[in-house]
Amino acid sequence: MYLNNTENGLYGNFGGTYVPEGLSNELQNISEEFAKSKTDESFIKELNYYRKEYIGRETPLYYAERLSKHIGGAKIYLKREDLCHTGAHKLNNVMGQILLAKKMGKTRIIAETGAGQHGVATATACAMFGLKCSVYMGEADTKRQALNVFRMKLLGAEVISVSNGQKTLSDAVDAALEDLMANYSDTFYLIGSAVGPHPYPEMVKHFQSIIGQEALMQIAEKEQRLPDYVVACVGGGSNAIGMFSAFLDKPTVKLLAAEAGGKGLDTKEHCSTLGLGSEGVIHGYKCLLLKDEQGNIAPTHSISAGLDYPGVSPELSYYKTSGRLDSVAVSDEQALEAFLMLSKMEGIIPALESSHAVYAALQKAKELPKDNIIVVNLSGRGDKDVDTVHGLLNKTS
Ligand SMILES: *Cc1c(COP(=O)(O)O)cnc(C)c1O
Repeated sequence: MYLNNTENGLYGNFGGTYVPEGLSNELQNISEEFAKSKTDESFIKELNYYRKEYIGRETPLYYAERLSKHIGGAKIYLKREDLCHTGAHKLNNVMGQILLAKKMGKTRIIAETGAGQHGVATATACAMFGLKCSVYMGEADTKRQALNVFRMKLLGAEVISVSNGQKTLSDAVDAALEDLMANYSDTFYLIGSAVGPHPYPEMVKHFQSIIGQEALMQIAEKEQRLPDYVVACVGGGSNAIGMFSAFLDKPTVKLLAAEAGGKGLDTKEHCSTLGLGSEGVIHGYKCLLLKDEQGNIAPTHSISAGLDYPGVSPELSYYKTSGRLDSVAVSDEQALEAFLMLSKMEGIIPALESSHAVYAALQKAKELPKDNIIVVNLSGRGDKDVDTVHGLLNKTS
């Protein structure tokens, strides 16, 4: 039901490497360097140093007592990734890949970004290490997320606006892959989620698995037992696979992925890849993919830009189809409800992405007895979303 290791990045039918020949050599180089670094004492020591001193790990596992009692069911614990530098789990992955890039002698980092969160995290770490940084961003997104474009520029990065296709995240990934193909001698492509061709899904999982490792130790210390449920929101799947990684081989722990239900699964405006996707190839890998009637990649929607991507982690795709992982779609409206509730009950304003996981956890908690335990990955803070929520509340009142 779960995988300890993968060969050539295959997770059952999912994953793999669907790229032009010019790219596969470089992917092989990255793969070999990653395999060496994973077990290299000095690499691990350096990564741990930056995790502690720069990202601010470890993050707390916080018992949301007032919220749990208000709901009247299982105990809810929050893994506070919102307290990481730059406000989300993204920097865990960025730091790992940047150290790898430096080890490979690369001097230029490129990245894709949708809402700008991964772009900002990458620009942040590049500033700290003094590396050149170019971030690809769809033209439509540069307009919707003008403040994050400015943030990246403040941090010294170049933002390259992509005007192909839908002018959004998917087009930015394509442009970044092309750049890598042309410039791999000095350039490293830092992918922001557990997606892309091998070895990226495995690499991103590895660098995010610190979330699950910490949570496992923390819950053992606080409760002397395993949780009954572990819940995380899924966009590309990096915070989810990072959290789940420590619990995959523990069959009593149920894993739940909260996806963007958008305006409803009966509309076309959602992003429920695990729930409604079917096998397909995007950005160099195979996964559960959202397609339209013609089999083309479908346009997606979510209230939270970070969940708005038609593909998903190949490993999560595998666990969904093998039955190890359950998924639930949380609508825009439900996510908003959880956003407001966590803010009021605990004094924690969550990212709209994370609010999907919080909502799913609240629903589960209601069904479960009081001695059950749910761990929720609070992937990010909501400061970036306050404006959006303000607008939505003004519209409805
Ligand atoms: C980017 C982002 C996500 C979605 O990305 P995953 O790779 O699915 O984790 C979720 N939450 C926050 C706060 C984000 O910034």
